[in-house]
Amino acid sequence: MRDMVIIGSGPAGLTAAVYAARANLQPLLIEGKEPGGQLTLTTMVENFPGFPEGIMGPQLMEDMRKQAQRFGAEIVNGYVHAVKLTEQPFRVYYGDKEVEARTVVISTGSSAKLIGIKSELDLMGHGVSTCATCDGFFFRGKEIAVVGGGDSAMEEATFLTKFATKVSLIHRRDTLRASKIMQDRALANPKIQFVWNTAVEEVLGDKAAGVKGLRLKNIKSEETSVLNVDGLFVAIGHNPNTEIFRGQVDLDNRGYVRTQPFSTRTNIPGVFACGDVQDPTFKQAITAAGTGCMSAIEAERWLEH
Ligand code: NAP
Repeated sequence: MRDMVIIGSGPAGLTAAVYAARANLQPLLIEGKEPGGQLTLTTMVENFPGFPEGIMGPQLMEDMRKQAQRFGAEIVNGYVHAVKLTEQPFRVYYGDKEVEARTVVISTGSSAKLIGIKSELDLMGHGVSTCATCDGFFFRGKEIAVVGGGDSAMEEATFLTKFATKVSLIHRRDTLRASKIMQDRALANPKIQFVWNTAVEEVLGDKAAGVKGLRLKNIKSEETSVLNVDGLFVAIGHNPNTEIFRGQVDLDNRGYVRTQPFSTRTNIPGVFACGDVQDPTFKQAITAAGTGCMSAIEAERWLEH
């Protein structure tokens, strides 16, 4: 029986672990499929306070992990495939193991969204990617495309110009959602060409040869065209990882865990949620860490009472 089980190892889960461990709760943190979470898929993090020169995402997560372990958090590698939160003690199932817990902190984050066309899935890992940091290197000297109009798309496109000779940024509207600074950086980059009001209808190529091009459709004129590229990076946002909680924890219509205002409490007493899994708005490392801290403090108080 644990006082606290934390599910997920991004900035939210690891910050909850630091606080809970320092409060002597000896939390068990189960890492999930992507230990360290989305920050391990990024390069330089420039906006996490305390690092005036920036810090590499994987390094930041490694440091948070060490900090949690230093105070006695137990971190295990495993994927939680089921939970039972309808009665105390809660039960969390990972691999072939089962653990009982008085409190559960949900910090499972979110995962990349896909456009939803069959060829995108068929060619995933064969020229289609959702992670420029992971796969950019494979496109050295090639022409590629990025889909999306938010900060992720700007960041990925800018990063990919280190490798690619040309990056086509395909966006379904003619205005970007990205922040001004990220837009300006991408717009000023001579290697990035913007393709406005356009949707990707099909990724051309096959598994053996990889991506050969994209069939595009201009949403306004309805004209179709083919863009010859060797790779496609999909950067259109994320979905919260909440499947295992469905039917037990209250979720909103987009699948995010509902938490009470100014709190990380869910509808189940003793179950808390922090980070991107409950945050459709900010989705920043620093806000995830902040809510992780809140979860640990709220759980500690709940246990005391
Ligand atoms: P986002 O802000 O939700 O933007 C998603 C983009 O993809 C939008 O431009 C959207 O188009 C487009 N899109 C969505 N579904 C699509 C579809 N099915 N087909 C084609 N296009 C589609 O997501 P994000 O860029 O991942 O950013 C999420 C959050 O993380 C934001 O708060 C952002 O500030 C933050 N972030 C920050 C940094 C940084 O500061 N370094 C880096 C990355 C992300 P519409 O505009 O038409 O809706």
